[in-house]
Amino acid sequence: MIEINKLHKYYGKNEVLKGINLSIESGEVVVIIGPSGSGKSTLLRCLNLLEEPTDGTITFEGQNLTNKKTDINLLRQKMGMVFQNFNLFPHKTVLDNLTLAPIKVKKIKKETAENTALTLLDKVGLKDKQLAFPSNLSGGQQQRVAIARALAMDPDVMLFDEPTSALDPEMVGEVLQVMKDLAQDGMTMVIVTHEMGFAKEVADRVIFMADGIVQEQGTPDAIFNTPKNPRTQDFLSKVL
Ligand code: ADP
Ligand code: MG
Repeated sequence: MIEINKLHKYYGKNEVLKGINLSIESGEVVVIIGPSGSGKSTLLRCLNLLEEPTDGTITFEGQNLTNKKTDINLLRQKMGMVFQNFNLFPHKTVLDNLTLAPIKVKKIKKETAENTALTLLDKVGLKDKQLAFPSNLSGGQQQRVAIARALAMDPDVMLFDEPTSALDPEMVGEVLQVMKDLAQDGMTMVIVTHEMGFAKEVADRVIFMADGIVQEQGTPDAIFNTPKNPRTQDFLSKVL
């Protein structure tokens, strides 16, 4: 589904991604771990062109994203993104948060969009909050709305950038549960997280990044139980 080839990203003279090669299969759950500053967010943001790659190619469903002719808006419809800080529209109800883009961007009928939205809210356990505003929800509820909102566009892949890092500890579980359900449903997912338990349980593949390079990748068992790269070993010894 996604093929990343020799991807480089510079910010000024700072080379943040130093030649990333990675392919992601349809239906795969890929978890990216690694120290702060290693380029994980930059990699995710290059995937949906929130950042422009400096060099290299990214193909998504056979389409070269680095080609200037690529329709970025169409691409973003197919890639749902969930951020650390929810980024909901504060002055819109939960329901409107979910229906806005489907109605405006995909020209879906309001009634249809609302039906889909309610099904998704039910899925994340928040159907009763459809008329609430984001500020009246807990962080965990807001993040579940953010996931439902991304799903409302019917994406082919979901990208998560530390979706639980801004949450109080007691709310982490409810968000991870929603993500587990999504994985179970067969959604293709690329997840940057520090939740190692989640990675062990849900990932098909774990990628360890450091210094802008994929240092090691493998099954959760291989990465967590028999890491080969000293950088991986050192990182895991600090976080496990
Ligand atoms: P991670 O998500 O792994 O913590 P990031 O991708 O956020 O890492 O950052 C990698 C490096 O790129 C860091 O050194 C960071 O300071 C730098 N960086 C990230 N975003 C920008 C930006 N918009 N402008 C300049 N430097 C940036
Ligand atoms: Mg980051």
